[in-house]
Amino acid sequence: MKKVDVLIVGQGLAGSVLSFLAIKRGLTVMVVDKPLLGRASYVAGGMFNPVTGRRIKKSWNYEVFYPKMVEVFEEIDKLLNINSFHLIPIYRFLTTVEDVNNWEVQRLDEEYHPFMGPAIKYEEDRVNPHQGVGVLNNGGWLDMVKFLSTYRNYLSENACLKEEEIDYSLLSTHQYKDIYFDKIIFCEGYRVMNNPFFSDVQLWSTKGETLTIEIEGEDFGFIFNKNMLIVPMGNGVYKVGATLERNLDTNITSQGLEELKEKVSSVIKVPFKVIDQEAGIRPNVRDRKPLIGVSREIDNYYIFNGLGSKGVSLAPYFAEQLLASIYDGQTIQKDVNWQRIYK
Ligand SMILES: Cc1cc2nc3c(=O)[nH]c(=O)nc-3n(C[C@H](O)[C@H](O)[C@H](O)COP(=O)(O)OP(=O)(O)OC[C@H]3O[C@@H](n4cnc5c(N)ncnc54)[C@H](O)[C@@H]3O)c2cc1C
Repeated sequence: MKKVDVLIVGQGLAGSVLSFLAIKRGLTVMVVDKPLLGRASYVAGGMFNPVTGRRIKKSWNYEVFYPKMVEVFEEIDKLLNINSFHLIPIYRFLTTVEDVNNWEVQRLDEEYHPFMGPAIKYEEDRVNPHQGVGVLNNGGWLDMVKFLSTYRNYLSENACLKEEEIDYSLLSTHQYKDIYFDKIIFCEGYRVMNNPFFSDVQLWSTKGETLTIEIEGEDFGFIFNKNMLIVPMGNGVYKVGATLERNLDTNITSQGLEELKEKVSSVIKVPFKVIDQEAGIRPNVRDRKPLIGVSREIDNYYIFNGLGSKGVSLAPYFAEQLLASIYDGQTIQKDVNWQRIYK
């Protein structure tokens, strides 16, 4: 029998960040994960963006989450000896004079000063004409595949990974097969819908498709943002995302391919090559806030989910908040406590 402080179900972004912070606290951990169809983290562009939406609005509490995100992912990169966390500018392509004016007006707001630079002229032979580019600071991207796969190896080498789909019927209060645990934290992404211990959780999950493309020439040193993202992954390879659909189908589609190709062509003038297409399901919540906290029935069963479309910026802050609630007696803020939402 193996004894651990925390059993974590799922090694997507949520389970990975949570287990890292738990180990950092000196807790013993076992992560149970099977790579299942539709998992979001391996498909995601991994971008974090301080300002989003057509109306250029600051992401919810971004300035609060940002320092924790930088701290945690830089620590993980150091531990794993990789370079997966990238702080790089985001160029928001502004199509009309009105877009440029709106940008300049918004950036007068003091709250936006750390994030919004001036609208600049940007010209490059490979890029279509536009009115200007709004430069966003304190954004960037996490190389999800590099981070998750290297961290998975780290867990495995330290005998902290059990590669299987959890059989919920074999779980008792403190035991799963040959593992005795003090606490269990479920991080299954949208598949929490199969979890009988959190059957009250109501997600509003959405499907997204992404492309990996190649563009010839020197790498662009920024993320393109214009109703979609083109994230430079190095060596002329870019991740493009994402579509948004209200279904749980995990297949890639020709509609998804065409939609994304069209969006790339609206910015990029030169031919590009599609080298991969993927689909995943975002664990969205209607109010767009995470779902964390303890089960209503079993007091050592917890959930960490609902990272929606902004997993990279939300995961470190709320993983720490959940652990602080369990181990330091701190209170979970009301607007992310999963118990605010019942079916
Ligand atoms: C197309 C797309 C683009 C996105 N782009 C971005 C972006 O640019 N920036 C950003 O911040 N966020 C983005 N997101 C959102 C982000 O990916 C998610 O918020 C985040 O990855 C969710 O992580 P998770 O660990 O909760 O879930 P998941 O990534 O789904 O991970 C859950 C893990 O648990 C495993 N699992 C589930 N059930 C079981 C079980 N019973 N037994 C064992 N294992 C199990 C799964 O196989 C998986 O490995 C995007 C999402 C999608 C789909």
